Amino acid sequence: MTTFDDVFSKAKSVAETAGKKTSEMIEVTRLKLQAAEMEKDIAAMLEGLGRLVYESRKEDADVAGKLDDCCLKLDERYAELVKVRAKIDEYRNQVTCKNCGAQNADDAVYCKRCGVKLSN
Ligand SMILES: [Zn+2]
Repeated sequence: MTTFDDVFSKAKSVAETAGKKTSEMIEVTRLKLQAAEMEKDIAAMLEGLGRLVYESRKEDADVAGKLDDCCLKLDERYAELVKVRAKIDEYRNQVTCKNCGAQNADDAVYCKRCGVKLSN
């Protein structure tokens, strides 16, 4: 026999699950936007880097220091992007293959696309 309490506690746990799902979805959306912003930043930085190389070639200027600086900043940005993507994977219970970028279940041992061993 189902008592009022059973129904109530069941309804409550469903509501809690739904709430958790919703906040996870919001978080994933937020992280995806963050990743997209970072990708835009990286694209702009790469463009800047290209322009710097082009202009230095034309003007025969020494920009080695500047280039090093740009590359360091890019490395930092890429590292941040990897972290954000890893967080998204965590929420989705997925792991991204470092070799080919394919999404795999987080309990997968080998990548389903390229077959490389996944480290997770
Ligand atoms: Zn792969």
